[in-house]
Amino acid sequence: MIPFLDLKAINAQYRDELIGACARVIDSGWYIGGSELEQFEQHFANYCGTKYAIGVANGLDALILTLRAWKELGKLKDGDEVIVPSNTYIASILAISANNLTPVLVEPCVDSFNIHPKKVEAAITIKTKVILPVHLYGQLADMPAIMDIAKRRELLVLEDSAQAHGASLDDKRAGSWGDASGFSFYPGKNLGALGDAGAITTNDEELANTLRALRNYGSHEKYKNLFQGVNSRLDEIQAAILNVKLNHLNAEIAHRCKVANAYLEGINNKAVILPTNEHDSAHVWHVFVIRCEHRDELQQYLADNRIQTLIHYPIPPHKQQAYKEWNELSYPIAEKIHTEVLSLPIGPTITDEEIVTIIKAINNFSYN
Ligand SMILES: *Cc1c(COP(=O)(O)O)cnc(C)c1O
Repeated sequence: MIPFLDLKAINAQYRDELIGACARVIDSGWYIGGSELEQFEQHFANYCGTKYAIGVANGLDALILTLRAWKELGKLKDGDEVIVPSNTYIASILAISANNLTPVLVEPCVDSFNIHPKKVEAAITIKTKVILPVHLYGQLADMPAIMDIAKRRELLVLEDSAQAHGASLDDKRAGSWGDASGFSFYPGKNLGALGDAGAITTNDEELANTLRALRNYGSHEKYKNLFQGVNSRLDEIQAAILNVKLNHLNAEIAHRCKVANAYLEGINNKAVILPTNEHDSAHVWHVFVIRCEHRDELQQYLADNRIQTLIHYPIPPHKQQAYKEWNELSYPIAEKIHTEVLSLPIGPTITDEEIVTIIKAINNFSYN
């Protein structure tokens, strides 16, 4: 079986370095909020092109705490509207609901899978305060257009960069476009820890300080609490692991791009629609998503040919039980995407031989 993503093989490449990093932390006697975290925050901010990075426990918390910080800073209040794509991973929307803010779902462009700027503008009301674009599958949303809207309409922008570490557009990386950006280092992400971890990037010092307090019980200074905060810290072991893996991220992205180019050149089955690389952005191919009207049959056929694929995602947010109140609403583009998408294996350890096998199998698929 060609696995969708071989996490064990990915981390095995760095086994000695990772063990060295863990040993460093074990021997330091300091396990929360130390030099590994400080170093990672500095490196990751530099990598993204921002002044600050604030490590937190996971990607969902990165988004929740940023919106929460804006509430604490008086920039948002209960009931304010946040514009978010109708076809994102559920976490982008949970972060809004968790803060008593109102998610306003806006349809994507079917070709890029990313939020449609014209539809964003059309969805703005007097209650709109934030645009939350998601750089889905590793490609930046149309950030020049979104930032232009945000500037004209005086809105905050929170990027969801959980799938887009290192992706760029006009040489500006994910995480450096908006007022702030949430990242996830879940093991399967392009930059993955060996457990849960996340971060927020921003150039706003006041926001960075508020986030540092919120992640640590609302405390800037030991035993003084400015906010009713939470415990959402990125621990030293995970930070040390991320320090190792960040050094290899660009090489891994280069491998993903090579695989993506092979798919784009090699797959010629007319039943398959290939993903686009919009406006020459630097896509990091977190997932390589094709569309096919006979998606379920194609997935079964590939499984029969010992090729594992996944669906990102099978159920759109507005059809989830968790958002019952939206179940009757219609978001036709999101719904179409969810019935047609299929993610092919793409990862830093997939071999040339496996790529050839996958391309051949897809080109031989026919539905009748
Ligand atoms: C993974 C992901 C998240 C959440 O990250 P966690 O670390 O799993 O909490 C948020 N948004 C998107 C788009 C994601 O893919």
